[in-house]
Amino acid sequence: MTRILHRQIHNSYPLAVGGKGVEIFDADGRAYIDASGGAAVSCLGHGHPYVTAALHAQADRLAYAHTSFFTTEPAEALADRLIEDAPSGLSHVYFVSGGSEAVEAALKMARQYFVEIGKPERRNIIARRQSYHGNTLGALATGGNEWRRTQFRPLLVETHHIDPCFAYRYQQPGETDQDYAARAAQALEDKILELGPESVMAFVAETVVGATAGAVPPVADYLKRVRAICDRYGVLLILDEVMCGMGRTGTLHACEQDGVSPDIMTIAKGLGGGYQPVGAVLLGQHIFDAFAKGTGFFQHGHTYLGHPMACAASLAVQDVIRRDGLLDNVKRMGAHLTRRLGERFGNHPNVGDIRGRGLFIAVELVEDRSTKATFDPKEKLHARIKREAMARGLMVYPMGGTIDGARGDHVLLAPPFIIDAPMVDAIVERLGDAVDAAITGVKT
Ligand code: PLP
Repeated sequence: MTRILHRQIHNSYPLAVGGKGVEIFDADGRAYIDASGGAAVSCLGHGHPYVTAALHAQADRLAYAHTSFFTTEPAEALADRLIEDAPSGLSHVYFVSGGSEAVEAALKMARQYFVEIGKPERRNIIARRQSYHGNTLGALATGGNEWRRTQFRPLLVETHHIDPCFAYRYQQPGETDQDYAARAAQALEDKILELGPESVMAFVAETVVGATAGAVPPVADYLKRVRAICDRYGVLLILDEVMCGMGRTGTLHACEQDGVSPDIMTIAKGLGGGYQPVGAVLLGQHIFDAFAKGTGFFQHGHTYLGHPMACAASLAVQDVIRRDGLLDNVKRMGAHLTRRLGERFGNHPNVGDIRGRGLFIAVELVEDRSTKATFDPKEKLHARIKREAMARGLMVYPMGGTIDGARGDHVLLAPPFIIDAPMVDAIVERLGDAVDAAITGVKT
């Protein structure tokens, strides 16, 4: 009997004992294709020799040095690398141990920035429905899933949520992308005006929405409009690229494809590729300068920030992505995956949408394609798909998203960047069988 409090108390999980390339092996010798990179984490797959060698070397040299006393070579080198490749304007890095910590730090950074520049009245956070920003109290308050927040509500800071830019669900028939981008961005301006511009601190958004809604990219121009609105009212733009960042969409940062730079950006997951728990906040020079001229430090900190092992692993992961030209493979294999999913599911009566960028692709399941009606949430189709997929040796990341108050279902695919075409084909074949078996289970 397990002594671990797992997320789902009544589920029993296979015992993972090994991993190589795009597969994980359990104690019974079964192999699972890691088609989701865990939760969009394992960008280099498992057991990558370059990364494990870097980890061994760092463990031998120096496993830990507290940041109140020292900086370290891997932390400095990783910070240099991240800024070298960062969207324009981002000049400094703050290290943490994961995505929620990154979002939490980003929120505190935004708040301290306004205090430092003498605008303490700026404290309102605007975020979007159907988003996920983490599970610590600040990040949870920012996320746009009411069902996650309800029981913690008296403890959460008040955050204001607007509709996301989600073409499949909210773009109206006949509405052009341009018009929809303008309408979706207008929701932000309206909310800023409603709250009073001088009270608003930040707008927080995932560049490409991850697990909650399933790889939802913004329509062209939406983020440019958002950037312009933030600039007009002096609101900081925080882009959360914890899931969609670090190459997952085919460019190192997803926002490069939208031609937008945030004031603050959060990254994690693919940064260390699962070889170490790590995250980071990238911040603009204006924020750094406000801290430097004001208090002289960022009033925050965790014991393991800038951990040498975490930074060494992350640097090795980023080295491999660069050295092996893996962003090109993400683009190539992403296009192949989308094509193959289209062939398998394009005419499927219960597949409403196939969307995403790079190797960050989701398939949305609907009971009725013409009305886009979701399956009854009580059927937990997403959980059935996960079970059926695991039984076929396939890891996918299915979720019941939040759609118009009802929970719809989608499957998120985020395989390692090293994947090849035969493995992509195997994913699509197994997923097709798993989806059909799960839907048959719902209907019978
Ligand atoms: N932000 C986004 C967009 C995420 O997808 C996640 C995790 O899924 C987080 C933040 C929280 O990251 P973590 O689970 O590492 O705390």
